[in-house]
Amino acid sequence: MCVTEKLVAPKPTLNKCSETLSSNNGTKPQAVSSSSEAVINLDHGDPTVYESFWGKVGEKCTMVIKGNELMSYISDLRKPCWFLEEELENSIKRLHHVAGNAVVDDRYVVVGTGSTQLYQAVLYALTTGGTAPEQQPVPVVCAAPYYSQYEDETDFLRSGLYKWAGDAYAFDKEGPYIEVVTSPNNPDGTTREAVVINSLADQGKILYDLAYYWPQYTPITRAADYDIMYFTFSKSTGHAGSRIGWALVKDEEIAKKMTRFIELSSIGVSKDSQLRAAKIMGVICDGYQDFESDENSENFFEYAHQLMEDRWKRLREIVARSNVFSLPKYPQEYCLFHGEFTESYPAFAWLKCKEGAIDEDCEKFLRESYKIVGRGGRRFGADPSYARLSMLSRDEVFQQFLDRLQSINNGTVSNGNY
Ligand code: PMP
Repeated sequence: MCVTEKLVAPKPTLNKCSETLSSNNGTKPQAVSSSSEAVINLDHGDPTVYESFWGKVGEKCTMVIKGNELMSYISDLRKPCWFLEEELENSIKRLHHVAGNAVVDDRYVVVGTGSTQLYQAVLYALTTGGTAPEQQPVPVVCAAPYYSQYEDETDFLRSGLYKWAGDAYAFDKEGPYIEVVTSPNNPDGTTREAVVINSLADQGKILYDLAYYWPQYTPITRAADYDIMYFTFSKSTGHAGSRIGWALVKDEEIAKKMTRFIELSSIGVSKDSQLRAAKIMGVICDGYQDFESDENSENFFEYAHQLMEDRWKRLREIVARSNVFSLPKYPQEYCLFHGEFTESYPAFAWLKCKEGAIDEDCEKFLRESYKIVGRGGRRFGADPSYARLSMLSRDEVFQQFLDRLQSINNGTVSNGNY
């Protein structure tokens, strides 16, 4: 996570914000926001949307760690990932059984400080061990629009082992490469498979970032069964602050190399966080497996799915009435988890400003005119007419966002020009 980018609200250029709707020679929408309206920051996918659920769960998730507990670096030296707590490994496997979203049998679990650390650990693991001393950095690609952080994370330390090579659709070199497949995709919510066509197919390695392959965001159509796939506590349950991610890896050598990377960058992963994650995942699973069943309690994935569905319906209603914006459409698919056909309700809205409605840049338009801060298409290797906006904010922020978008529509109606 890039702190400057994800935690600090970018400063919008507010001086360009006009206070009332005014005609602009009848061509472009104008701001209706008053200066007293706060900036709505939907730039990063901070999953605070789930706070109210966990607030209601109450004491079941509370844990106490005594002063003499969890003091060692080590968890189990017999495992490739020697700092993985057994409770966490068991809870991860249980959670995947409940969600039905990944094969866990005969896999090594590697825990990371967020999946951000795992991404780097995988790149290291896939590019070390070659014998050729003159090895060139292995190109890393992902189909555009791709998660904006991959590029920075890949090139930040200017590794001699790997190098960001951009859009996988444009990649046509022979030789080794790594393709990152994000499914469902951040930013646009689509389901994806690898796209690189290489005549030496065995030279390509694929890593699957399945951060959003959970029943609240997308139909679970099968248990993912890839050689290297990773998930994150941030987007599955919403506990981004614990910084826990996990990879499911088929090959023991890869799991060991990933572990080595994490060992050198942080000598393991916080055990306090691992046990908290294990506890919370356990509470979700208990809900489904009817332990300590409580009639009044709601199960997490149903709750979260309902909530995302509701948000998307409200957003789509406003966008449907707009002449300025459009949203992607997602197919209905049979979800094995819900036992019915469902649609995707992604963690981000990939909003497109319709051609001619505004000047090119959707992010700039939203930020300067409406104080809505999103992330512009260019950052994802896409067109600036797109902006990505988080759907995971707290309720009041989401409502403000809808109201602000609605005000753009109202401007459309009252101005009558666009
Ligand atoms: N992959 C994707 C696709 C993401 O959207 C994110 C978070 N925005 C991450 C990885 C990183 O997640 P974390 O480090 O919180 O586990």
